[in-house]
Amino acid sequence: MFESLVRFVREQYRTNEFIPLHAPVFAGHERQYVSDTIESTFVSSVGAYVDRFERDIATYTTSPRAVATVNGTAALHIALQLAGVRTGELVITQPLTFVATCNAIAYCNAEPVFVDVDRHTLGLSPKALAAWLEEHAHLGDDGLCRTKMDGRVVRACVPMHTFGHPADLDGLVAVCSAWKLALVEDAAESLGSLYKGQHTGTFGLLGTLSFNGNKIITTGGGGMILSGEALATRAKHLTTTAKKPHPFEYVHDELGYNYRLPNLNAALGCAQLEQLEEFVANKRELAARYAEHLKGSDLQFVSEPPECRSNYWLNAVVCEDREQRDALLKASNAQGVMTRPIWALMNHLSMYASSLKGELANAEWLEARVVNLPSSVVQRSLA
Ligand SMILES: *Cc1c(COP(=O)(O)O)cnc(C)c1O
Repeated sequence: MFESLVRFVREQYRTNEFIPLHAPVFAGHERQYVSDTIESTFVSSVGAYVDRFERDIATYTTSPRAVATVNGTAALHIALQLAGVRTGELVITQPLTFVATCNAIAYCNAEPVFVDVDRHTLGLSPKALAAWLEEHAHLGDDGLCRTKMDGRVVRACVPMHTFGHPADLDGLVAVCSAWKLALVEDAAESLGSLYKGQHTGTFGLLGTLSFNGNKIITTGGGGMILSGEALATRAKHLTTTAKKPHPFEYVHDELGYNYRLPNLNAALGCAQLEQLEEFVANKRELAARYAEHLKGSDLQFVSEPPECRSNYWLNAVVCEDREQRDALLKASNAQGVMTRPIWALMNHLSMYASSLKGELANAEWLEARVVNLPSSVVQRSLA
């Protein structure tokens, strides 16, 4: 079963070897920039590549500022703190995400609330968000959104742009604004994706990126906080142990974190970022070929939402049912073509099993059916 799909994937990557889901491509100045850091001895938490990487990401995304972090989870943790998330408060997110989204909420001693996704974006549904809020929350006299049941503050909302496909940002911005929720975008998977021409990660109060080894560009490990000027200055302070600037004294004026991105990693990031637009174009072409190949089959290819340019970080199909999904996973992996199911829903994980949640019909439907297909940039010259 699925021979034609397996054959199609092998034709794309022109290999009979194992085909991973997503492998990084180092085809630019990676070696040169990384060598620079070694020769300069500035491999650690201070260095010119960190500054350059932050500037280059800010310019690319047109975010006023960008602050580099040691990984995407740390970026989310700090972004949520800066959005005002405090102990005992609630943060609305989607159940269909990577566990880091929820963990960052838990690091703030806050609790996630799971609201359903849209089937066509795979991202948080503005309709489901508004429905949950109308049923369970009210706007207090103090201008804070609180639960009707026990008056807990609902502080923020964290949509995630699944596999690079932008969520319905117009809708989410409107609902968050009406309910006074801080919008923090988990754009870990969507660097290079545009919603109505604007970069994901720049629609909310803060946005975060990840440069883990499996993302569209990598620094080995790394992340970035996107925000305006004042919050970025705070983010830099918190992620660099809250040290007060001084020529020689060590004074830290609040509880800070060592969440800095090493210069060594930033160097890799600078070289990767130079190739990002090429990667996006390459991945969009691959996605178009997948879509064409799967036309008329019973696997439904997940395409970008209208008025969006998706980076197509991970290609995905929706199977007819769980049985077909399992058969696809079994057949492709047995033949050395790596495929994976979508994440188990966050409300099914033991840590978040008792979290508040709305109706999750779409998330459950997708959980049983979605499979990711190999999505690395295709290197024609090396094939
Ligand atoms: C990759 C990812 C992150 C951050 O991961 P790190 O490995 O900490 O960089 C966060 N959220 C989502 C949805 C991700 O896919």
